[in-house]
Amino acid sequence: MTSNIKCIGVLTSGGDAPGMNAAIRSVTRAAIFDGIRVKGIYRGYKGLITGEISEFKTNSVSNIIQQGGTILKTARCAEFLTPEGRKVAYETMQREEIDALVVIGGDGSLTGANIFANEFDVPIVGLPGTIDNDLYGTDVTIGYDTALNTIMQSVDKIRDTATSHERLFFIEVMGRNCGYLALNSAIASGAEAAIIPEISIEKDQLSDLIEQGFRKSKNSSLVLVTESEITGGALKLAERVKTEYPQYDVRVSILGHLQRGGSPSAQDRILASRMGVAAIRALLEDQRNVMIGIHENEIVYIPFKRAIKKEREISDELLEVLRISSI
Ligand code: ADP
Repeated sequence: MTSNIKCIGVLTSGGDAPGMNAAIRSVTRAAIFDGIRVKGIYRGYKGLITGEISEFKTNSVSNIIQQGGTILKTARCAEFLTPEGRKVAYETMQREEIDALVVIGGDGSLTGANIFANEFDVPIVGLPGTIDNDLYGTDVTIGYDTALNTIMQSVDKIRDTATSHERLFFIEVMGRNCGYLALNSAIASGAEAAIIPEISIEKDQLSDLIEQGFRKSKNSSLVLVTESEITGGALKLAERVKTEYPQYDVRVSILGHLQRGGSPSAQDRILASRMGVAAIRALLEDQRNVMIGIHENEIVYIPFKRAIKKEREISDELLEVLRISSI
């Protein structure tokens, strides 16, 4: 393979996700394996603007595969939203002799990457690093499996207290406008239902749930709720139960940032390692402005434009599994 790429920059941006370190490690080692220099860019696009950059060698990424978070730090960067900010970022790349970028992040980070790549003709490959599993074209994203396991373990604990007091619990999880975390963690933890944005648009899931003769025969009721303006979140739903269905003893548990932390699962470490190697291969093949995805256990390239379109559909099959298995 011939390529003009002599040096790549790698950054993590937006919400952190377990497995980002495994991805940084894999990108770094795969590039060096192919004779390409690597520069680590700190704090996402912010570091590209301020020039917070250092050369990475193979041992710069030693002993990190098992660590949550990101050694490169991450940030949200308002300046990168402006053409002036992105121009400074491009100048930094030229000064540092960075020929291409690997951006590890979610929907927002890849949207920024797409705009930047089109403005300055910079080769960029993205890795889907987000617990939300909300990117189109990949079956899973880096961090999703670990977050799912963390949520499942937390819900198992909440079940003990919910059962003892015979309470209805709304457990709020992350996901922004994507219900996969709530739906799959509801299945995995044996919860009664999931209230997710994709369905909230069409119908009132709370009244459906209660009017279907909600679990009088069960000791406790656990409902997973996606944190989203569309669902209203767990607190708003609990308020509604208190006024509309006062016969229920309702409690709320918002899992919050613990969902992002912890050592990545084996699945996330393997996924991140595969995607990191694939990112360098893609750049060497002159692929640009694509996100690495995984579909039917094969690596795929998804053009940024498709990956960030906001239409990841929820699986009807998973909805049915939850409905059937929670009767
Ligand atoms: P995530 O990548 O986890 O979805 P954000 O949505 O916060 O996180 O995006 C991370 C960063 O990506 C933003 O702080 C900004 O620097 C950049 N970004 C997001 N959207 C755009 C955009 N439309 N144009 C340029 N940069 C963007």
